[in-house]
Amino acid sequence: MYTGINPRGARTGEVYIKADKTMSLSQLARSICESPTLKLNEMAALLREKGEPVIHLGGGEPKSKAPIDAIVSCTSLLNTGDVKYTPADGIPALKKAIIRYTEEHYDRLVAPENVIASSGAKQSIMVLLHSILDPKEEVIFPAPYWVSYPEMIKLAGGVPVPVTARDGGFEPTVEEIAEAVGQYTKAIILNSPNNPSGAVYSDDFIAGVVDLCEKRDLYLIMDDTYNRLIFEGRQPTNCYRFTHVHNLESSKLIVINCVSKMYAMTGFRIGWAIGNRQLIRSMTNIQSQETSGPAAPSQWAAVGALNGVQSCIESLRLTLENNRNVMLARLGAFTGVKVTKPGGTFYSFPDFSAYEKDSQKLSRMLLEKVRVVTVPGREFGMEGHLRLSFCGTIKEITEGIERIKWALDPNAPNELYLGDRKLVRDWQ
Ligand code: PLP
Repeated sequence: MYTGINPRGARTGEVYIKADKTMSLSQLARSICESPTLKLNEMAALLREKGEPVIHLGGGEPKSKAPIDAIVSCTSLLNTGDVKYTPADGIPALKKAIIRYTEEHYDRLVAPENVIASSGAKQSIMVLLHSILDPKEEVIFPAPYWVSYPEMIKLAGGVPVPVTARDGGFEPTVEEIAEAVGQYTKAIILNSPNNPSGAVYSDDFIAGVVDLCEKRDLYLIMDDTYNRLIFEGRQPTNCYRFTHVHNLESSKLIVINCVSKMYAMTGFRIGWAIGNRQLIRSMTNIQSQETSGPAAPSQWAAVGALNGVQSCIESLRLTLENNRNVMLARLGAFTGVKVTKPGGTFYSFPDFSAYEKDSQKLSRMLLEKVRVVTVPGREFGMEGHLRLSFCGTIKEITEGIERIKWALDPNAPNELYLGDRKLVRDWQ
């Protein structure tokens, strides 16, 4: 592994694989970075195993358990012992549950042929990109962005084109997005509420991008992974409200969803896409060759979650809103840290550049010195920020922020106790 200039244009400083003489890895393999968030999970787990008092503010999954309806549905299949291949695009019961979900939450009646269930939203996005991209075609998305978009686009042979708002905020204007559209542009991805910023894009922005895509004949991928985890009584945005193409078969709008975050079922790996039949057929062909259908027990778990009692989402949402408020209150005690209130998700994305402009250096320092895991903003295309998750416990949030403050604030007392270990601040 080494750090340097990536042949396919990754950012300097990213870690990718250099093939040695005995092992000829493809150019593509060498151009893809590992997922920094999954890597941080691993590092945190290893340190914890060694007994280190790690606080993980880098996590991307709710603490709550999977809904009981998911477990019952999954175990009833397991109890039969009859666990076999499923159709490549998902079992009929799951498609039915997804169709009902789409009708309820998007006011859109779709056919089974408009639905593909995959092994997580990630796989739905991946087979979608493989279905629409020819080599060198471009995909636009606002920065900050989910870490996986650039790598997934590169995996599918395309070119990632992040767009940063000129005002330094988390939502570019429709004009800024339009300026990035060129002859090679094939698609735009929007993720709202957004990982990592927690920003809920305005209806005007989403409507403007829907309109732009329809006028320029571009695919629009709405990544609604966190759609219902929004705060202050806001209603989730339904992108179909803004479309002028009412026949789904002529539409290039694709909606991605999953049970991962809303139902706290990240490990089950079930996501899905809704789109026109031709596209879904192509995605199914690719998925059938790559992995076949998602794991049958997981599909049944998702059926249970989608058809079962839905109060788990509201209770998760309320917990997250409370956690967010606690984190914001603690971050408010930092002079110099700029915080934008997250409207959804379980991430905040404060600007720490007053303390340290290099977010990787800062994140590393916080892990080394005070054992707090954070994710550098650079990974999300916005330097100077750190992604701090509030999906953990209140204790983790308060203690994590307290440790960060101690590490960064020159006016803080010289000593801090981590359990019975005394830390002495010997840096500025
Ligand atoms: N989209 C976004 C914006 C995400 O943050 C994530 C996971 O972190 C995913 C998609 C992937 O979801 P899944 O775990 O269902 O593959």
